[in-house]
Amino acid sequence: MATLSSTQAWSRAEQLNQIADQSVDVLVIGGGASGAGVFLDALSRGLSCALIEKQDFTAGTSSRSTKLVHGGVRYLEQAVKQLDLDKYQLVKEALAERRRMLEMAPHLAWPLNLVTPVKSAIGLPYFRIGLGVYDFLSGSQQIGDSKIESKRTLKQICPDINVKQLTGGVSYFDGQFDDARFGVSMVRTGLEMGGHALNYTEVNDLLKTEGQVTGAQCTDLLSGMSFNIRAKAVINCTGPWTDKIRAMANPDFKPMMTVSSGVHLLINRNLLPEGRGILIPETEDGRVLFMLPWLGKTLVGTTDDPAELSEEPGVSNDEIDYILRTCNSWLDRPILRDEVSASWSGLRPLVADPDAQTTASLTRDHVVLDDNGLTSLTGGKWTTWRRMAEDCVDHVLKVKGIKAGKCDTHDIHLVGARGDSLAAKHAIAHLPQDIRDHLWQAYGDRAPQVLACGSEARLVADEPYIEAELDWIIQFEGACTAEDVLNRRLRVGMLDDAVAEKIRRVVAAKLGKESVAA
Ligand SMILES: Cc1cc2nc3c(=O)[nH]c(=O)nc-3n(C[C@H](O)[C@H](O)[C@H](O)COP(=O)(O)OP(=O)(O)OC[C@H]3O[C@@H](n4cnc5c(N)ncnc54)[C@H](O)[C@@H]3O)c2cc1C
Repeated sequence: MATLSSTQAWSRAEQLNQIADQSVDVLVIGGGASGAGVFLDALSRGLSCALIEKQDFTAGTSSRSTKLVHGGVRYLEQAVKQLDLDKYQLVKEALAERRRMLEMAPHLAWPLNLVTPVKSAIGLPYFRIGLGVYDFLSGSQQIGDSKIESKRTLKQICPDINVKQLTGGVSYFDGQFDDARFGVSMVRTGLEMGGHALNYTEVNDLLKTEGQVTGAQCTDLLSGMSFNIRAKAVINCTGPWTDKIRAMANPDFKPMMTVSSGVHLLINRNLLPEGRGILIPETEDGRVLFMLPWLGKTLVGTTDDPAELSEEPGVSNDEIDYILRTCNSWLDRPILRDEVSASWSGLRPLVADPDAQTTASLTRDHVVLDDNGLTSLTGGKWTTWRRMAEDCVDHVLKVKGIKAGKCDTHDIHLVGARGDSLAAKHAIAHLPQDIRDHLWQAYGDRAPQVLACGSEARLVADEPYIEAELDWIIQFEGACTAEDVLNRRLRVGMLDDAVAEKIRRVVAAKLGKESVAA
């Protein structure tokens, strides 16, 4: 099977030809953070690997996160309160992964300073000590120091915050990332390492030999064509859908998944002009809520409510009201309902504890388990994808007796972070600042290649998206539908519904001209 070069287009038809009715070492089902992670891990060990995704890459939970690369401040608080060493270890590991994510694609993941506003006098030392422990746990992976902030600084960070009710705040560092573009870049990186990947392809059933899973029956949802893929190992990374694939391996399986909905809102106002985020430390249902700078606007969320399994989980008025009510209780200029320019829900794949009373008390740790030769990887969080994949592939190699090299993703760089960044910056230096910044943030050192694809003309006045990007995204980033382009490549669909609608017509015309199957 052929390896894609860095200048080669991502042809879905070629991928299909190369995968259909073939055998590979590892077949991964699901193209979110977990699946793309296992894909990269297996390839880094010299194994042949195919990735099958029934929607678009990252269209499930993985494009709908809070976009934090984090160790989990909240889990640390639980670890301390419950004297839980496992949770403490979890935070420590996640902090090490945080650093790795920031290094493997600096254009897509960057350090973010956040501040926790504090109301009570006792709150300041409480948060200062807690966040000091967070710094300490990062050890050599630390990305910045936590510190106490004055009310004046809080007002600079968020001019609309109501400081009258505050004693001050405590700031700390975590990371922020572009979840959808990070995931798509992981898949493209895997293709350039010799892997094969198909979106809009569903696994309908599993193939078995003597009762053990040895492959999958797939349907290309764009052409209706069915085909099989045989594999030494089949790994189920379908997040919220994990139990559905497990049922194909073993009809007598014991279900373990539950899902909860996490809603985010995009506010069409830059509430955080310094580019620093706010962690609201208490909500009416005892959780935390984030207000984050996001591509010139403000991202707020999230919720945590029991939900039904769905590809397009809805956002209720109650959820929007809850988020706005919570934010507004900290502001003296409230966020208005008509300032919400986009909203979406993501389903948390939670590993169920049958005794748990609320979804907030279920574990976020990851699980690797086997059903008749099928291995499932689920739970965890975006930040820990690399570690989750390493654990999973280590396990699969052991139980299947497959010989392979060691995991080599510790220092991996994704596409866009592998070339000459100085030369790339120079090549786009003539562009207006907003376009330059946007291209760099989205494509890193591949920005000049993007530019070479077409026109520098803006798609919509006053917005940084340009025509060349559409050609690049359709030819080089595996996008098949207008939603793929708008929501998970350009990101405008999850930023501003009105601007996305204006661009949709151009996208549809381009997609019509350039057959996605070619
Ligand atoms: C609201 C919210 C906020 C979050 N915020 C953060 C955060 O800030 N930082 C962080 O680190 N983590 C965060 N997380 C957690 C993180 O987003 C998830 O842990 C992660 O995205 C899960 O990835 P996944 O690959 O397991 O699942 P998914 O992304 O859902 O991927 C599973 C994929 O499997 C595909 N699939 C299903 N069935 C089939 C089939 N039959 N054939 C082929 N494909 C199939 C689906 O289409 C889907 O794309 C958040 C989660 C939520 C819900």
